[in-house]
Amino acid sequence: MKILIGGWFTLPRLGREEFSLLMRQGVRYDKSMGFKMDAETDLESAVRTIRLSVGEEIELTVRCFICGKEACAGCPYLDACDRRKVSSLCLCAEHGPDKGVYERYKKALTDSIAS
Ligand SMILES: [Zn+2]
Repeated sequence: MKILIGGWFTLPRLGREEFSLLMRQGVRYDKSMGFKMDAETDLESAVRTIRLSVGEEIELTVRCFICGKEACAGCPYLDACDRRKVSSLCLCAEHGPDKGVYERYKKALTDSIAS
């Protein structure tokens, strides 16, 4: 299954132990939204827990810093990139660095620090 870091996702019913393990690993839970992994999540451990409980490989994807959409699709670094370790924000194909996006990146960064 695919999980967007910073986005809500649902899991099949978990055992009590798996659930509390995920909470300890910094995964957020909301009754109506489901689960979410963010900057406070211990991604390596949480991914391992989820993989064991759902019995399938977990593919992490990250969001574009500029537009908030999933940034991994079509990225040339997809195979080399360990999304458990990199920043949870990246740049999508549309906002890649060859389109003068650096100025917008700086602005988005300044805005996010200022807010
Ligand atoms: Zn984008």
